[in-house]
Amino acid sequence: MGEVHVRVGEYRSSYHTDPDCSALNGKPETFKGIEEIPREEAEAKGLQSCRLCRS
Ligand SMILES: [Zn+2]
Repeated sequence: MGEVHVRVGEYRSSYHTDPDCSALNGKPETFKGIEEIPREEAEAKGLQSCRLCRS
């Protein structure tokens, strides 16, 4: 529980609860992978909950 998905790299501004979220998998030119981190760690990095997959 509490794990979220974030993109690897500098472009990221949000974390995702849905591993199939289009915002998580899009923009192949900057896509370097996905990592899973605890939600608290994502928030500590200043990331915000993705509006596409939070529901
Ligand atoms: Zn998302």
